[in-house]
Amino acid sequence: MFPRLLAVTCLAFSTSLTQAASFETCVAGLRQTALAQGIRATTFDQSMKGVEPDEDVLKSYDYQPEFTTAIWDYVSGLVDEERVTDGRQLLEQWSSVLAQAEQKFGVDRNVIVAVWGVESNFGRIQGKRELVRSLTTLVCANKRQAFFRDELIATLRIIQTGDIVPESLVGSWAGAFGQTQFMPTTYQRLAIDFDGDGRRDIVSSVPDALGSTANYLHRAGWVPGEAWGYEVQLPANYAGPSGRRTKQSLAQWASLGVKRIESAQDAGGQNGGSQTSPANNQAALLLPAGVNGPAFLVFRNFDAIYSYNAAESYALSIAHLSDRLRGGASFSTPWPTDDPGTSRAERREVQQRLLALGYEIGIADGLVGDKTRKAISAFQTSAGMTADGRAGQQVLKALRAASH
Ligand code: CA
Repeated sequence: MFPRLLAVTCLAFSTSLTQAASFETCVAGLRQTALAQGIRATTFDQSMKGVEPDEDVLKSYDYQPEFTTAIWDYVSGLVDEERVTDGRQLLEQWSSVLAQAEQKFGVDRNVIVAVWGVESNFGRIQGKRELVRSLTTLVCANKRQAFFRDELIATLRIIQTGDIVPESLVGSWAGAFGQTQFMPTTYQRLAIDFDGDGRRDIVSSVPDALGSTANYLHRAGWVPGEAWGYEVQLPANYAGPSGRRTKQSLAQWASLGVKRIESAQDAGGQNGGSQTSPANNQAALLLPAGVNGPAFLVFRNFDAIYSYNAAESYALSIAHLSDRLRGGASFSTPWPTDDPGTSRAERREVQQRLLALGYEIGIADGLVGDKTRKAISAFQTSAGMTADGRAGQQVLKALRAASH
């Protein structure tokens, strides 16, 4: 989960942040607000002790990516063989907890595990920034102040109730944390204690994280037993409606020539059984790469997944990963590109080969950030390729050739 609605404002407030006095004044104001909302003075004072502004958080807030990410890059990195293998192993390991979550909330276990895999790589990447510090920085630099102030107070409430120890309250620069990557206010509304130890700990407890994810999807309108959607084939030269918000009946879509692709996608079997078309009969046509790429009819359960992260690329990745975990196949229709995306293993190889060629990109962690992209651009230029900074199949191939 990530607050994607962050408006990038170019106000010059961050300069005032370096002035200690104004930061202290801001914290003093926050203290009053927090106390008025039921945070105890001792909780506030202990949590805020020695807190200083974090300039990196403001850089992240203002960050405008130089490179755009194609949908096939998102999907190939988020749904690769490694994540499918990991996910299937974890489905087994946590089968009794997942069965309980399925029974209580009606949410398909494959989807719960897919959210877990995409949001935090099954709990392995939860973020490292101290929530209290990041959120105080954002509030006091006047970045979406009311929004982040509520998140800060929600964080202080977690500390006050003792649900999660303060040292564990680390996450993304914007405050998403734990294995579910909830924002603190979302945590307060939807996190549950699913292992029964009396604490809602989505950082350290896998059952709490899985149960909280199931509760989230349930509250977002998940309908038990229904599929999220499926891949479809469009008629030639399709020019009809599309988009997640444009819903029509399945019969209307059929009359436009939109046909389900029967594949191993809905494999059923050991991990979930077959899923039905939506009882409300409403579907939207998703064309993430236009009419020449894979097409999907998506139902209300897709909207529930979408609400988790408010990005179609993520929602589709979660949906697709859930199918792969269930035993389904990859998409039938290839992405409309001659340079498909890479898995994380292949991205690590791209980075290792760049390092071997002397490009300074830090460590080969499979995460393609600005440094890696700039190095790829430089390599592409030197190899006479278009410098788009993408860690795609063509760069990988060229790097392999350059290493021999
Ligand atoms: Ca617990």
